[in-house]
This record gives sequence, C-alpha cells and structure tokens, in this order.
Amino acid sequence: MKKAILYSSLSVVLLSACTNGAQEAGGPEEETEVPDQQEEQPEDETEIETEEEEESSEPADDADEEEVEVEVEPEYEINDVVWTVDPIDDANPQVVLATFDDAPDQHAVEMAETLKENDVPAIFFVNGHFLDTDEEKEMLKEIHNMGFPIGNHTMTHQDLKSISEEEQYEEIIEVSDIVEDIIGERPRFFRAPFGSNTDYSRELVEEEGMILMNWTYGYDWEPEYQDAEALADIMVNTEFLQNGANLLMHDREWTNEALQDIIDGLRDQDYEFVDPELIK
Ligand SMILES: [Zn+2]
Repeated sequence: MKKAILYSSLSVVLLSACTNGAQEAGGPEEETEVPDQQEEQPEDETEIETEEEEESSEPADDADEEEVEVEVEPEYEINDVVWTVDPIDDANPQVVLATFDDAPDQHAVEMAETLKENDVPAIFFVNGHFLDTDEEKEMLKEIHNMGFPIGNHTMTHQDLKSISEEEQYEEIIEVSDIVEDIIGERPRFFRAPFGSNTDYSRELVEEEGMILMNWTYGYDWEPEYQDAEALADIMVNTEFLQNGANLLMHDREWTNEALQDIIDGLRDQDYEFVDPELIK
C-alpha cells in the first residue's frame, strides 16, 4: 500500500517535469530513413577519449588524434522501473546522481563550474535547439572539457508520444550527430522530454547504445520552487531522497543559485555523488 502511494506520487512528479522546457519546435525535415531494428547489446565498456599527447606502444587508429581507451568497470546500473541508480556489487549504495536538463541555455556553464569546484560529477542533458549558434557550441565544449558527460534530451523537446516514428528518429539521432560534431563523441545517456518514451524510442535508444533514464525527483519547474532558498530546502529535505536518487534539475537561474546549498545539504546527509562514468 505504501509502495503504491510512493509510485503514484513519483509518476505525478515525472509527468509534471520539464514543463518549462518546451520550446518552439523546428519543423521536422523529410527524407529520413529509419533503419531496421537490430538486436544489439548495450556496450559494457566505456570509452574515454583523452586529448593528452601520450606515447603509446600501439599505433593510433586515427591520424588526427590519439585515442586512449580506458576500461572502466561499471559499478552502478539504472533501475528501469523506479529510475534509481543501483549498485551492482559492493559499491556504495548511498549515492545520488546529479543531472541537468534543457542545457546549455543560460546557466549551464556556471553550474558546471560550481560542480567542478565541488568535485561533483553530473550529466548535462542537451537539446539541439540549444546548439544552433557558435556561442552555444562553445558552451557545450566548455562543459564537456570540464569532464561532464553530455546526455541526449532530443532536438526540440517534444513529447515523443505525440510525433511519428520518423520524427522521433530525427529528434533523437540528430542531437547525437550534433554533439559528436562538437565534442567528438556521441552521448551515452538519453532522457526523453517529460520522461515520455515510446516503444520505438526505447528500441532506438538501445540500438544506439545509449542508457535510458528518467529521474526519481526534481522540483525546479514547479512555481513554488522557482526560488533558490525553497529549492535548496526541498532538494535535500524531500521524502524522496533515498539511496540511488536520480536528481532532475534544469538550466535555470534559481537552480544555479541553489546549487551550492544543494551539494552541501546532500553531502551533510552523507550522500555521495555518483560518477556517471561508473553507470552501465
Ligand atoms: Zn527537459
């Protein structure tokens, strides 16, 4: 009974998220080929590209840049029912995952700097409509160069359930293409606008080798929490704070202002911020 109440509250939180995120949508382009669905396992290995010029005993694949592959043993996985970040073996269960959607708009770089200063790993989920200009592309590079993984949050932030499969394909694949163009790697993580997925989007995300996630709680889109003090308070004192909580925040002024207090408040309660690189 208690569980049922918790789940129904969670779905309210899920359904109401990202309501500020909707933006003017660009018209979908035509002539998109939808490839056949293929059964493909998500990759277990994480590739980390480094830009360091290091001597390697092996010849580089690419004449332009040297790739150093570092195998990271995954320690966590996303629970695809309640969206928590669960330890695989004996990893610390008392973790939270920090995520920021609808980036890079106005505050993402400053938020990344705050996170970096505090040694807090996080995922920035980006939209294609925030990657149109050179200035926006530069912001993405800055965030990536500070060490933050970039997630795919679709091109124009539409509800995937309201558009055709061809349009879903464009919404998802185009962002990965653009991100790869800018930072040299495709997103490993996917989060649908409004947490609204279709069978098709789930298949496509898996086929692309991305990890699909929603979130467990977030408040910064609700009018009463569009205030730094109120937001910092609820983010660390909510009943939904639990091991593996997947925290949804956005590129917003009040979230930016509240970020330091949110970090401190969660650490005061002995939560560690999980490194997304350790998630499979
Ligand atoms: Zn969003």
